[in-house]
Amino acid sequence: MESQKTSLLSNLAESIENKRDDLIALTQDLVKIPTLNPPGENYLEICEYIKNRLKKSNFNIELIRANGSPGDSDKFPRWNIIGRREGSGKGDCVHFNSHTDVVDVGSGWSFDPFGAEINDGKIYGRGTCDMKGGLASSIIACEAFLELCPNFNGAIEISGTADEETGGYGGVAHLAEKGYFSPNRVQHVIIPEPLNKDRICLGHRGGWWAEIETLGKIAHGCMPFLGDCAVRHMGAVLEEFEKNLYPKLQNRKTEMPVVPEGARHSTMNINSIHGGQIEPDPDTDALPSHCVPDSCRIIIDRRYIIEETAESVKEEVESLLNKVKGERDSFEYKIKELNRVIPSMTNRDAPIVRSVSKSIKNVLDKEPNYVASPGSYDQKHIDRIGTLKNCIAYGPGILELAHQPDEYIEIEDMIDSTKIMGNTLIDLLIS
Ligand SMILES: [Zn+2]
Repeated sequence: MESQKTSLLSNLAESIENKRDDLIALTQDLVKIPTLNPPGENYLEICEYIKNRLKKSNFNIELIRANGSPGDSDKFPRWNIIGRREGSGKGDCVHFNSHTDVVDVGSGWSFDPFGAEINDGKIYGRGTCDMKGGLASSIIACEAFLELCPNFNGAIEISGTADEETGGYGGVAHLAEKGYFSPNRVQHVIIPEPLNKDRICLGHRGGWWAEIETLGKIAHGCMPFLGDCAVRHMGAVLEEFEKNLYPKLQNRKTEMPVVPEGARHSTMNINSIHGGQIEPDPDTDALPSHCVPDSCRIIIDRRYIIEETAESVKEEVESLLNKVKGERDSFEYKIKELNRVIPSMTNRDAPIVRSVSKSIKNVLDKEPNYVASPGSYDQKHIDRIGTLKNCIAYGPGILELAHQPDEYIEIEDMIDSTKIMGNTLIDLLIS
């Protein structure tokens, strides 16, 4: 049996080498569909493209619109695709989930962001690395596997989902709510996000976003003592954060193998600040009126570790605000939670981790690195809503290139990752 598997693995590797041009063309086609999010463009077009591709390998296809999800409208409908191919025997289902959306292009490009040009063994374009290269790799891995092993056990699924870049509510969260990621339907999930071909990403930190507003009283700017300056109150809040929050966050280390290492503890970004009059229009040279600001608002972006909870994070911020209140006369504040996502962390002994680890050793002849992501991705929904714990991110591409100008994917990295994904299918679906 083992020698049969060994020859299957080498046949698979050869078949994937032969599909190099196909892999490149598929990646290019996907990149050329500009699925910018926001606003969430061309989701139906990319789903149709994937549908036509998967149909050739006899996948059963479902197109699912996340009606009523944030941003969903008739102009920008949130379309998702799931393809499922049943094997001939009983067994587990292995699911590859990729998001189809890409972020804004931004400036600084020397290549056409949607041209998918090849240069020096790399394909350039928005979404090449995050994560259409990973999507293409998973499709080719499944196609090569199905040609070689038509009589496999269990099932294979490939999904292309919307809105990961804006929280995944019109994508994986919606599908998880409809039961598509329940453990009796799917047993193993690989998300081919660009974490590098030799790394297994076990999960990600959590996030808690809130708006804090300090309140004051408007008055003439020449008699500020008749008013109450909300910006000065916010200054006191920021000083409190500097003195009594940031040092604590820096020292609160996590067991999660977060990369880069700078994110291996709790962090907080102050996303924006606004106080007083609205920003003047850049086209006007009108002078400001003289007013004491009666409101100042900040938005905080607090990333938390598996050792913390969203509740403890919230209470910590509130207790500092109450401390400031105790120290300043007339200090009033409001706090509004904007969003929270749970951290997720798959066990190192989980079946999908063990299988991909074995495949990395087979293909690259090296031990994999285990990492966790500083920001979240769709694993949170599969974990919390789907209640499926056997999930990782694994895919080709350099994480740091995501969302950058001149984003690219190395063709050789895609070939290797495709082999590793195919290896995993043989490991999990062939007895
Ligand atoms: Zn991504």
